[in-house]
Amino acid sequence: MRLRQVWAEVNLQTLRENYFKLQAYTQSEMMPIVKADAYGHGLIPVVKTLIACGARRFGVARLEEALEIKEVFPELTVMVIGATDLEQSDTLVREGIIPSIFQLSQAQALSDAAVKQNQTAKLHIKLDTGMNRIGFREADLAKILKISALPNLFIEGIFTHFATSDQSDLSFAREQLKRFEGLYAKLKSSGLKIPIRHAANSAAILQFPESHFELVRPGIALYGLSPSAQVGGNVGLEPVMSWKAKVSNVKSIKTGETVSYGRTFQAAYPTCVATIPVGYADGLRRALSNHGEMLIHGKRSMMIGRVCMDQTMLEVTKIKKVNVGDVVTILGKDGYEQITATEMADWLGTISYEVICGISKRVPRIYLDPTENN
Ligand SMILES: *Cc1c(COP(=O)(O)O)cnc(C)c1O
Repeated sequence: MRLRQVWAEVNLQTLRENYFKLQAYTQSEMMPIVKADAYGHGLIPVVKTLIACGARRFGVARLEEALEIKEVFPELTVMVIGATDLEQSDTLVREGIIPSIFQLSQAQALSDAAVKQNQTAKLHIKLDTGMNRIGFREADLAKILKISALPNLFIEGIFTHFATSDQSDLSFAREQLKRFEGLYAKLKSSGLKIPIRHAANSAAILQFPESHFELVRPGIALYGLSPSAQVGGNVGLEPVMSWKAKVSNVKSIKTGETVSYGRTFQAAYPTCVATIPVGYADGLRRALSNHGEMLIHGKRSMMIGRVCMDQTMLEVTKIKKVNVGDVVTILGKDGYEQITATEMADWLGTISYEVICGISKRVPRIYLDPTENN
């Protein structure tokens, strides 16, 4: 870490604690969602840590992500909750990866691949109950029954996804749940028994127990962030990832001098400026220019002037003795102060999910495991 100018610390002990805090909300099996490189935290270290916590099944968005897991943990059950295409069927079967099926053609291709390889392919049926993204709808019942008759397939699961489970008003989520249960009941009365039903994301795990069924799909809460301002504040979740950098330059400028491209910051009084070697290429959004804050010596400091590709400036006039090499906290705690991805998301008019996924690959992830050393 000494050699680094910018890095993200991922605390695996905090990840474990969040996992067990969430598990306390449900009797159902948890399938951690580790798409997008485990929400920016690093896929393999996160999977490895959660396996040790008892997780036996993982969900990703893309086949490539599933293959990355399978390369390290060939026996692990991995499901692609997003779309796969027909050309990926052979790989899905060969690697034993469970796809989400929402078109008859996908099931046919999967069945063909399974027959060719003399295997039985597991799949989960995706139902669209109101997101209008992917999934079979009520009118597609016959198609699902057709799939159940295709050779070498096993429909292990059926699932849906909520549009509003993170709001305090759950009326639409209840409507979605009703449609899900209705469709499931119709399939059942047509003789199709599917052992695993799932619907709940983090927010629904925390506030919608009726939706838990046999399996739940926690994402954001595992990483220690509340799904929304309305949900998760009382769970004791702690952010798993912090983002830090070291001051690269410190100087004083006179009244009237300006900082960075476009001269959007002008000093109204003699100002001390610290330069931080992190910019929008690292995922520090340019929209934070003259707007965001960072922590230094346990205090908040304003970002002044435009965020550049690789550098950003801070106003440190009132912070004593800032030196080159001092650690700046972009996300995380310093003393009594904390900046969370949720707060940064508020500055940007977005959600914490986008902030943590947006920390780019250029920022090395450093894994901390406080329990491992003693
Ligand atoms: C991303 C995702 C989840 C996890 O959602 P969180 O809000 O992060 O808990 C669950 N299910 C599906 C289908 C998803 O795409």
